Amino acid sequence: MTETDHFLLHKKLEGKVAIITGGASGIGEATARLFAQHGARAIVIADIQDALGQSVAESIGHGQCTYVHCDVADEGQVKGLIDSTVEAFGNLDIMFSNAGVGKTGDLRQSILDLNLDASDRLFAINTRGMAACVKHAARAMVEGSVKGGSIVCTGSLAASTGVEQFIDYAMCKHAVLGLVRCASKGLGEYGIRVNCVSPGGVATPLTCNELLACNEMTLSVEECEKFLEGIMGLKGFGATKTKDIANAVLFLASQDSQFITGQNLIVDGGTKLP
Ligand code: NAD
Repeated sequence: MTETDHFLLHKKLEGKVAIITGGASGIGEATARLFAQHGARAIVIADIQDALGQSVAESIGHGQCTYVHCDVADEGQVKGLIDSTVEAFGNLDIMFSNAGVGKTGDLRQSILDLNLDASDRLFAINTRGMAACVKHAARAMVEGSVKGGSIVCTGSLAASTGVEQFIDYAMCKHAVLGLVRCASKGLGEYGIRVNCVSPGGVATPLTCNELLACNEMTLSVEECEKFLEGIMGLKGFGATKTKDIANAVLFLASQDSQFITGQNLIVDGGTKLP
């Protein structure tokens, strides 16, 4: 058996239809590419960065991957995304609700100077947007011709611990964990699993340009990875990459995790948050 035959035998998403929000960049993009390698029949990237999203979809291949503009903060757009996916491909098997932002206003908010208007916008995308994606994906799965489905949300290591700064980001990711736990209870009877993947730190635009940027000074990928590697307990493998998070998403999306629901899979290399 050749190496390619061996790989083909182990495709985990053969024939599946998946939506990935925030798929134009970072973790979402890496996951779209991995889902394609694992034989997903249709991958719909949903994002607000249209040019980037189109080019990622084109590079994966138009037969397999398409791009749809969708601002997850707008429930109507989320419903439209899911309706158009089901109409085009017949059903929805996997929803990777991953779109998110690190900040929308003041940098590094602490409790003493919390700007609640900026927090509202952050919650609108990171929490309300994720709830809309879970709600409408679950409805499509419940009503669909194919039984079951897998929903994966992107949380954060910051959802499992307190932090002193960017507390609105940590708060909205705590809420994502609550969403996943509650949704998994309600959807089990339909054979739908709901889980969370929680990255520690990965050098994506969100981290380099928002969370770790200081006084609007952004970090290069190299600077960002150096910092993140430094706070990781696990040494010897460099910093966590988007592909490492995508592997965890693939596990939760596929039948490999058939009996896992309502869980939070932290992928952080033993990170100790400062
Ligand atoms: P990224 O900036 O590379 O990707 C985020 C994507 O979300 C972008 O393509 C962006 O355009 C899209 N997006 C933003 N607002 C949107 C909206 N309203 N509607 C639709 N799409 C929108 O960053 P990333 O690190 O890949 O982030 C993906 C997820 O991972 C986020 O939910 C983030 O909170 C989470 N996360 C990232 C890290 C990390 O270290 N990178 C750690 C923990 C959690």
